[in-house]
Amino acid sequence: MTMTFPAIGKPSADQMAVKPNLDYEKTHGNFQWAEMYAELDWLPGGWLNKAHEAIDRHANGSRRDKVAMIWEGKNGEQETYTFGQMKTLTNRFANVLKSLGIQKGDRVFLFMDRLPELYIAFFGILKVGAIAGPLFSAFGPDPVKDRLQDSGAKVLITQPDLRRRITGIIPELFELEHIVVVNKDDRDPQPRDPADLDYVEEMAKASADFDIVETSQFDYSIMHYTSGTTGKPKGAVHRHQAAVQHYATGKWVLDLHEDDIYWCTADPGWVTGTSYGMMAPWTNGVTQLIYEGGFRASAWYEMIQKHKVTVWYTAPTAIRMLMRAGDEVPKRYDLSSLRYMNSVGEPLNPEAVVWGVTVFGMPFHDNWWQTETGAILCANYPGMEVRPGSMGRPIPGIELGIVDDDYQQVGPDVDGNLVVRPGWPSMFHTYWNNTEMYNSKFRGGWYVTGDRARVDKDGYFWFQGRADDVINTAGHLVGPFEVESALIEHPAVAEAGVIGKPDPIAMEVVKAFVALNEGFEATTELRNEITRFSREKLSAAIAPREIEFVSSLPKTRSGKIMRRLLKARELGLPEGDTSGLEEE
Ligand code: ATP
Ligand code: MG
Repeated sequence: MTMTFPAIGKPSADQMAVKPNLDYEKTHGNFQWAEMYAELDWLPGGWLNKAHEAIDRHANGSRRDKVAMIWEGKNGEQETYTFGQMKTLTNRFANVLKSLGIQKGDRVFLFMDRLPELYIAFFGILKVGAIAGPLFSAFGPDPVKDRLQDSGAKVLITQPDLRRRITGIIPELFELEHIVVVNKDDRDPQPRDPADLDYVEEMAKASADFDIVETSQFDYSIMHYTSGTTGKPKGAVHRHQAAVQHYATGKWVLDLHEDDIYWCTADPGWVTGTSYGMMAPWTNGVTQLIYEGGFRASAWYEMIQKHKVTVWYTAPTAIRMLMRAGDEVPKRYDLSSLRYMNSVGEPLNPEAVVWGVTVFGMPFHDNWWQTETGAILCANYPGMEVRPGSMGRPIPGIELGIVDDDYQQVGPDVDGNLVVRPGWPSMFHTYWNNTEMYNSKFRGGWYVTGDRARVDKDGYFWFQGRADDVINTAGHLVGPFEVESALIEHPAVAEAGVIGKPDPIAMEVVKAFVALNEGFEATTELRNEITRFSREKLSAAIAPREIEFVSSLPKTRSGKIMRRLLKARELGLPEGDTSGLEEE
C-alpha cells in the first residue's frame, strides 16, 4: 500500500543542516511508516505536535471522558484525570508559559517527583512549542546545575523540597528566568521564596483555551540527558515526529489495546518515562497508572492488584530486586489482571525471563533501544517466540546491522558493533551543544550505537555488552552480560558486575563483583563454589578468574550497573563523571 505523507511544515535550513537523515522512501520503501504517519491526527496546515497527538485528539473525540491518568501518591492519595481534563489543564499551563514570554524552541525544565502536575506541565511545554527537559528528582544540585546550564533553560518547574535542595546553584544559572513551584496539596508548610511563582496561582489566572503553537514534525520537542553509564551524560534532542514511533511501538511491542490499564515504572527523568510513560499509552488513548512511590516489592504488587494493571513495562534492575524479594511475596496478591510484561534498560538475564513465567505465568518481553533512538527499535513482540536472553528482532521499518570495525556487515552468530540504518522517525537529531559528537556516531552509512551484539540465523539479536565493556582475555572476546547472567543463575547470587582487569599474560582477565542474596555469607567456600559453577556454565576460559563479594553494585540513577566505575575503582583510576551515579 502506498500513501503520501500528510502535508508538512517545512523544516528550516538550520534544522536540516545538523544531519540530513529523513529520507524514508530510500531507507524503508516508504511503507510502514507512511501508514503509521497517516494514523496520526495532525493539526490543520500539516503541523504536528506531540501534545495534540497524546492529549487533545482524544479530548476532542470519543475518549474525552475516558481516564487518561490514574495517579497514586506516595501517601496513598488517588486522583484521576480524563483526556478532556488533561486538555484543559495543559492548555492552562501553556498559557502560563506564554505569559512568561516562553517561545518556540525555548527550553523549559522539570525537576519534580511523579506528580500529576509534572505530566500536565510537560504537555503544556510542548503546546507552546518549547523543548521539555525532565530531570530525575533524585538528582543532587550538581547534576541539575550541569543540565540547566548546558541546555540554557529559561524556566524550571519544581517542588518545594527540591527547590530548597538546589538553592545554592540558582545564582549560577544565568539563563534561568523563572521558577514555578508546585506545592502539591500544600504538603510543604514552609513559605515560598518570594521570587518564585506558585503553580496554583498561575494556573488560576490562565485561560483554559489555547491554540497549539505551529510546530512541524521536525521541530524539537524533548531533550533527555543519557544515563551516563559510559561517560558524561549527553543531551539527546528529539523532534515531534517521534510521536509516530511511540504510537506504533505502543501497539506493536507493548500490545496496548483500548481497555488496558498500563503501568510504566520508569521515571520521566529518563527517556523510557516520557516515550513510554507518556507518549506511547496516550497516543494510543490508553489509561495509565502513575505511581509516585519508589520501589518496594510489596507496594508494586499492590499497585498491580489494586489498579488491575494489564500491561506492565519495567526494567531488569527492578525485576532482579523483585526476584530478590522472593517468590512468596507475589503469592499474597491477586495479579491475575496482568496480560503482558516488558522490560528495557539493560540486558534482561535469561534467568529473569524464566522467573517471570514461574511467578506470573508469562515471560518478560525484552526490548532494546537508547535515549538516542527515542523509541524501541528491537523487541520480543507479541506473537513471536521469546528466546530468553535475546533482545528480539527489529520492529517493522527498522534495519539493524552487525558490523566489524570497518563498518562491514558480518554474518550470523558473529559478534560485532550494533548499528542502525539512519532515518527512523524517533531518531535523535543532535546532542545539545555537541554536534561534533553527534556526527561522530554516523559511520559507513550507519548510526553506531556503541553496543556490541550478534544476530542469529533467525534474525534474533543477542546483546553482548557495551563496546567499552567488552573484555579481551587470552584472545577471547567476552561480553560481560553473558558472564553476569551465568553467575546470577547461582542461588546465592543476586547481582553481578563483570569487568576486564589488565593482566600481563592474558591481556585481561575476567573479574566479577558479586552481591549475594539474603541468607548467604561471603565465605571462601562459597567463592570457590561459584567459581566452579560458572566454569561449568561458561568454560574455564570465560569464567571469572577473580570473584569479589560486594554488598551492592554501583548503578546509575536509572538503575544500570556502572562497570566503568567498577573498573576505575579496581585500577585506582579517577572515577570520571559520576553525576548520574546512584547514592551508595
Ligand atoms: P550513556 O550513553 O550516557 O553512557 P546509557 O547508554 O546507559 O548512558 P541510555 O540511553 O539510558 O543511556 O541507555 C541505553 C543503553 O542501555 C543501550 O545502549 C544499551 O547499552 C542498554 N540497553 C537498553 N536496553 C537494553 C536491552 N534490552 N538489552 C541490553 N542492553 C540494553
Ligand atoms: Mg548510551
